Amino acid sequence: MLSIVLPAYNEQQMIEKVVITLQQLLTANSIPYELIFIDDGSRDNTWNKIQSATKKYKHVVGVHFSRNFGKESAIFAGLEAAIGDVVAVMDCDLQHPPETLIQMYREWENGFELIEGIKKSRGKEGIIHTVSAKTFYKIMSKATGIDMQNASDFKMMDRKVVDALLQLPERNTFFRALSSWCGYKVRTVEFEVQEREAGETKWSVTALFRYALTNIVSFTTIPLQFVTLSGVVFLIIAIILGVQTLMKYFCSGAVEGFTTVILLLLFIGSVIMISLGIIGYYIAKMYEEIKARPRYIVSEVIKSTKDREGELNG
Ligand code: UDP
Ligand code: MG
Repeated sequence: MLSIVLPAYNEQQMIEKVVITLQQLLTANSIPYELIFIDDGSRDNTWNKIQSATKKYKHVVGVHFSRNFGKESAIFAGLEAAIGDVVAVMDCDLQHPPETLIQMYREWENGFELIEGIKKSRGKEGIIHTVSAKTFYKIMSKATGIDMQNASDFKMMDRKVVDALLQLPERNTFFRALSSWCGYKVRTVEFEVQEREAGETKWSVTALFRYALTNIVSFTTIPLQFVTLSGVVFLIIAIILGVQTLMKYFCSGAVEGFTTVILLLLFIGSVIMISLGIIGYYIAKMYEEIKARPRYIVSEVIKSTKDREGELNG
């Protein structure tokens, strides 16, 4: 069975449309499936829509978060709830073309364990968005050693990969990179990002910035090396200036050079502050991990894993 995980945050207009589209497509291709909607604490009628969908269509499962925990948490809740031998993750705004699912499914049948959706182009995005996304993915590609340009959350995974992901203990997850990090037999499938049909994107510039920072810190310690590097640079400057100062002192009685002192003070001050900030950020993230709070809190489930296992056997 194919489980499809669909994180939904304020997507009331999309739920029914998605169910109908996927139902038609998957039945036509005779693929057994279940649809798992994770309502990520939506403020509109998304949960009602999911509830009525679970009543109307028997393959639909609903999980309701107690508040908005973010897409990453929703994805992991979906993976946890899925009981299929193969699990796909896709956005529920139909920006990930459903037909690609079939292509992915065939690759899975061919023995691939992780099938990653790669964006052919990034769709319609503003220039600032494109540039910052490019920079972010350059850093992430360096950090993970995996080419992340054009990566997306649209993926299909074998049960093995899902179990491996669910074993990871960290709170700050970055699904897109973690799945590749797991390894396994990977295959990529290209897709064209579709226009959003209804509703609007949930990502503001600040949200994206925070997302980028968190993920960089969770995957690499390169920023910390910046601290060491600036230390080394300043040591070299210190040696040069030190020799010069001593020479002046012995030859001509010194004084003079207040500008240098002021400039150095300002410059070193800022480098120290930035360095402390970087270290502080890592400590903050460690603190968050150490608290080991759950990734999300589920307030309601319709058709739990147990219910469905009964169905499968019976
Ligand atoms: N989403 C979510 N929680 C959030 C934000 C988004 O579950 O806090 C879901 C959203 O419902 C959608 C997917 O994540 O199914 C992608 O979100 P969106 O379409 O807003 O992002 P974009 O496609 O613009 O990158
Ligand atoms: Mg979208």
